[in-house]
Amino acid sequence: MVLETYHLEITNIECMPTSTKRNAVVTYPDDLSELLPYIAALIPGCTYQHAAGVINYFDSVHIIGIYPKKTTITAVMDESEAEEIFKKLVELARDAAARMDEITPVFDKRITVGPLDLFKTLPGTNCRLCDEPTCMAFAAKIMRRQGALSLCTPLLNGEGDLAGAEAVLGAAGISLDQNPETG
Ligand code: SF4
Repeated sequence: MVLETYHLEITNIECMPTSTKRNAVVTYPDDLSELLPYIAALIPGCTYQHAAGVINYFDSVHIIGIYPKKTTITAVMDESEAEEIFKKLVELARDAAARMDEITPVFDKRITVGPLDLFKTLPGTNCRLCDEPTCMAFAAKIMRRQGALSLCTPLLNGEGDLAGAEAVLGAAGISLDQNPETG
């Protein structure tokens, strides 16, 4: 049976060392490569490109990335929360494996979001603490994967809509620890 064994690890969010939330990384000996298009078909609102080999989605709290050999879950409080989320994914993966004959696989599924969507979640004060001239310029830079959301300290300190910002990044397939300049 798929995902019979796995190893779950909790890590700090490197770009947000003061955050009380943690990331979870779950690794497994199974290779989900062939199953990913079927799992993607079962998750409404996910983003998946077969060539990239990762399903990304946002469950209103966590950004979840399902890779062939690992799954990442952002913003968990502890191991039991991560375990609970992952066990639902295990059920989903087993359902997909059992019904491959009846599920139409999805090889390219995108939720279209852009800088304006991210901009709407930012404080909107143009305070320049992020070294960008405006919040809009910052949003554009993030969506080009050239910066880290954590550079907007007002957002981290409760101004704006942090959960909404993470949702936009999740929909765009940009997770906090995927951003090459994060940290
Ligand atoms: S730090 Fe945040 S609020 Fe200030 S300009 Fe940058 S994006 Fe806007």
